Amino acid sequence: MERPTRFEHSRWVGDKRTWVVHDLDHADDHADAIAELMDARTYLSFGPDTLPEARNRGYRLCTQCRAAASREDADA
Ligand SMILES: [Zn+2]
Repeated sequence: MERPTRFEHSRWVGDKRTWVVHDLDHADDHADAIAELMDARTYLSFGPDTLPEARNRGYRLCTQCRAAASREDADA
């Protein structure tokens, strides 16, 4: 999907309300949720921009992003 401008250079985007981290490379099927997050402005990015870093900070991977990533792995 087209990344929100704020996250042009980030892949992992956390939602401070829910402690969920989205994988923007696998968020196509719930882009509306990402747009809502951008509107709510409760997002944050991570440094370094990695899933382990997000997990270290207490975030868990979005189930929809995880499902999309595993579908892609199955196709590969
Ligand atoms: Zn997600």
